Amino acid sequence: MYEKEKSMIMRACLRMKEYRLISLTGGNISVKVDEDTYVVTPSGMLYEDMTLEDLCVVDHAGRLKEGSRKPTSDVAALIYIYDHMPKVRATIHTHQPYATAIGMNNDSLPACMVTLIDANHARINVAPWTRSQDIGMGKLAVDYAGDANTVIMKHHGVICFGEDLDEALYAAVYLEEAAKTYVMARIMGAVPELSDEQIAEEAAGWQSYGQ
Ligand SMILES: [Zn+2]
Repeated sequence: MYEKEKSMIMRACLRMKEYRLISLTGGNISVKVDEDTYVVTPSGMLYEDMTLEDLCVVDHAGRLKEGSRKPTSDVAALIYIYDHMPKVRATIHTHQPYATAIGMNNDSLPACMVTLIDANHARINVAPWTRSQDIGMGKLAVDYAGDANTVIMKHHGVICFGEDLDEALYAAVYLEEAAKTYVMARIMGAVPELSDEQIAEEAAGWQSYGQ
């Protein structure tokens, strides 16, 4: 069951590798089907070895409904996000290096690049440290997301979300591109943030982007 959601997740897993957002078995992907059904990646498996059968269908308590693998250890945190952000239907968690590096010594990634606005809608806040594999990750993500599709988790990585998996993937990929560009620009000097007017103008244009 849930072949469509599983296929979407597998495709996104390969994209995460292609864009160098993950290493080995780090990170995870989840999709909400309904209030008691979530499809998530398994714990500690290489993405390139993963098949549709390895993906886990869990209930609201994180218990396995379908599949034979142990679900991602972040499942409680992810379900907390779904419970508290009703529009969110998909999440991507990575340890992508540039965005994570910014979280080490900044409180946020400023809204400094159009693609960051397009895919993430606002400046990206950095949430304080909490241990991994804990529901606290989900609580901090909800508290610190603000208007953005992403939260940077200090000393850990990022959680990106969207109304579908494509939106979460765009958030993660464009975040890393913007974070890398921001780091390079900072080496050359101060980086100005886009004004509220520029952000609104850019956001309006993005509505008609694509096919
Ligand atoms: Zn992690």
